[in-house]
Amino acid sequence: MSKGTPSRGKRQKSTHIRCRRCGKHSYHKQKKVCASCGYGETARLRSYSWNKRSHRPKA
Ligand SMILES: [Zn+2]
Repeated sequence: MSKGTPSRGKRQKSTHIRCRRCGKHSYHKQKKVCASCGYGETARLRSYSWNKRSHRPKA
């Protein structure tokens, strides 16, 4: 098995499925955690201060 471009064609398993909470295709099947909103990991929405787009701009 090679690591280059040819091996990219072998990816058939889906790691992420549609999230129940945010509706994005970011819910990890095995980890049971949404990469986008943190569903499964936290009851609140996943948010980080470095992600400025998720915050309302101040005034
Ligand atoms: Zn989500």
